[in-house]
Amino acid sequence: MKKRCTAVLLAAGSGSRMKSDIAKQYMLLGGKPLIWYALHVIEESSVIDDCVLVTGAEDISYVQEEIVERYGFHKVDTIVAGGKERYDSVYQALKVIESGEMRVRNRDGYVFIHDGARPFLTEDILRRDYEAVKTFRACVTGMPVKDTIKLAGQDGCAVQTPDRNFVWQIQTPQVFETALIIEAYKKLTKEKERWQAEGMSITDDAMVVENFMFLPVKLVQGSYQNIKITTPEDLVIAEAFLA
Ligand code: C5P
Repeated sequence: MKKRCTAVLLAAGSGSRMKSDIAKQYMLLGGKPLIWYALHVIEESSVIDDCVLVTGAEDISYVQEEIVERYGFHKVDTIVAGGKERYDSVYQALKVIESGEMRVRNRDGYVFIHDGARPFLTEDILRRDYEAVKTFRACVTGMPVKDTIKLAGQDGCAVQTPDRNFVWQIQTPQVFETALIIEAYKKLTKEKERWQAEGMSITDDAMVVENFMFLPVKLVQGSYQNIKITTPEDLVIAEAFLA
């Protein structure tokens, strides 16, 4: 039997690298707000059952009226205010999922954490992730790198060139058993100060599972189109993909 799948859609970032007056998640792409695209795929998906949407506290009523109600995104169960860092935003959503306040409780299903700034999510990616998480309990979407990657030392000189057959660039969704990801983030919250003191930055959810649950995370093929819109030139590329 198919297990319950809840999407956590992250749209609480400040988008400072976009250098725009309007937050990037609401900028227009093909005449629609950027987060419309991932929400549309979630709404039409046969994998995803419901969604917790994370936005800035001051944007909740705008998003509720102008995006969720206007476009009829019925799978959005709750809109919650995010936090300072990406992992703070994820944790706010996980608390909603754990609390049992949603229309249907997701106890033993899966959570799909996706960046709202990645408009080119597809049903095929969601399906591949679902098949992988059933076996591996934790998986992340990504693609093998096309360029040679070098690790740099403090002096800016190359110190290592990993075999690129084993180097992936990581995307979202990142997908986990519900109880597993909630447990991992609780552990992170307890040890956050120590991590920060050691200068570690937590940039994705797989890191949290790898470090606190000691579980291997399966890499699942996404697509080279599944880009994150971060800087103005990404919008030009996105318009080209749409066309
Ligand atoms: O900052 P970054 O590009 O890694 O953000 C990835 C996604 O996480 C974006 O969709 C952004 O809106 C979201 N985010 C968030 N809360 C934050 C920071 C980022 O929801 N505090």
